[in-house]
Amino acid sequence: MTVRELRDKYLSGEVSPVTVIKESLGLINDKDEEIHAYLDVYENALEEAVKAEECLSIDKDDTPPLTGIPIAIKNNILYKAHKATGGSKILENYTATYNATIVDKLKKAGAIIVGSTNMDEFAMGSSTENSAFGPTKNPTDITRVPGGSSGGSAAAVAMGSVPVAIGTDTGGSIRQPASYCGLVGFKPTYGAVSRYGLMAMGSSLDQAGPLTNTVTDAELVHNVIAGQDNMDMTTISNDTYPKVEEKDKYTIGVPRDFLASGIDEDVLGAFESHLEDLRLAGHDVVDVKLPLFAKGLAAYYVVMPAEVSSNLARYDGIRYGSRVDGEDLLAVYENSRGEGFGDEVKRRILLGTYVLSSGYYDAYYGKAEAVRQLMREELNQVFTEIDIIATPTAPTPAFKFGAQKDPLSMYKQDIFTVPVNLTGVPAISIPAKSVEREGKSLPVGVQYIAPHAGEVRLFDLGKRMHDQV
Ligand code: GLN
Repeated sequence: MTVRELRDKYLSGEVSPVTVIKESLGLINDKDEEIHAYLDVYENALEEAVKAEECLSIDKDDTPPLTGIPIAIKNNILYKAHKATGGSKILENYTATYNATIVDKLKKAGAIIVGSTNMDEFAMGSSTENSAFGPTKNPTDITRVPGGSSGGSAAAVAMGSVPVAIGTDTGGSIRQPASYCGLVGFKPTYGAVSRYGLMAMGSSLDQAGPLTNTVTDAELVHNVIAGQDNMDMTTISNDTYPKVEEKDKYTIGVPRDFLASGIDEDVLGAFESHLEDLRLAGHDVVDVKLPLFAKGLAAYYVVMPAEVSSNLARYDGIRYGSRVDGEDLLAVYENSRGEGFGDEVKRRILLGTYVLSSGYYDAYYGKAEAVRQLMREELNQVFTEIDIIATPTAPTPAFKFGAQKDPLSMYKQDIFTVPVNLTGVPAISIPAKSVEREGKSLPVGVQYIAPHAGEVRLFDLGKRMHDQV
């Protein structure tokens, strides 16, 4: 069931939160040994369900919008008194001492957090294979990855245990798993949602957002977690950007040249067929030129590791993270970080430290930031002519475990999603037509990108095209 359906049934008294939470926990119990979407399951969710039921019995129309709705959160989101590992061995024993702003907001809205989901270590990856606690399987085909880094969140929704899970997206980590698991995944405008209490990966890129079955649900949950926050100075107010309006008919731009780059033929077919649906629905589909988008991946894999190297310096066995003792202070650092971090995390810390080092800073980091600024300008220009950009979400459907051993081929998964984070605009992935692989039908997503603060447009078009409302 969707969040909306559950809410309606709670209000009509047809089902109760206790029944739903029991079913949610039961389903996790039955299926998660195989899927491994969750790192932790919170049995006390049942007590909260009893309370939600009481609230609904007193004055149901006055209850907040997510009362009694089961939800899962990615394990890099702090939930007081609960473990938060970020998918890393170095935080295996870390318990959050406060709530992330979005956790406070979800709880205030009545949501019941039933568990915390698996992820690539510190959100670095596209398959959850980088989790220190073992990978998650894709519920639509368990021989394949669910995508990443929010693969646990996607699998939690796709296996039917919750109608919504929160993920984080630094370069595609909500949208790509949504695409692989047949879900809606939404990445808000940078600053729309507070990052307070989220483990930082790339601070200028990170945003939290929902993975859901419908666009209606994504909008509902986004509106709960969004808003300016005194604890995060980068959050924006409603008037930070010019107001973006909904329209009856949108002009949708397709960056054709950009799609030429190594994309799976069936995925391209599914995308073309979606464009046809857009035309049939009365929208204009036009070609646009975004030559700098093709530089996005290169810029991202400089900017992001640079921020990673700085953000992850705190995990040294002294300030944060498990300590592995050594002869002197340097040995403590080396042992703690050497044993606590996985290969991908180390690779990025090394790369990031290198691009920030004196002598190379201007050549790499400075250049990448300059490209990023030019990308913003290019995008702003294109958005004077069109309303929404459409691309496939990822260049392939879900791949098999171990199929992307070479880090560079894994990074290519992000080709269509990283330009969005680099420029800070909002984007949504909705399921397009499925593709066939080995007799199985695998979901693939299409991505809509809107101008800054243009989430209303994404929800509007998404609801019309996907939810059929
Ligand atoms: N796959 C991308 C990466 O590994 C995106 C990660 C993310 O969005 N957190 O950097």
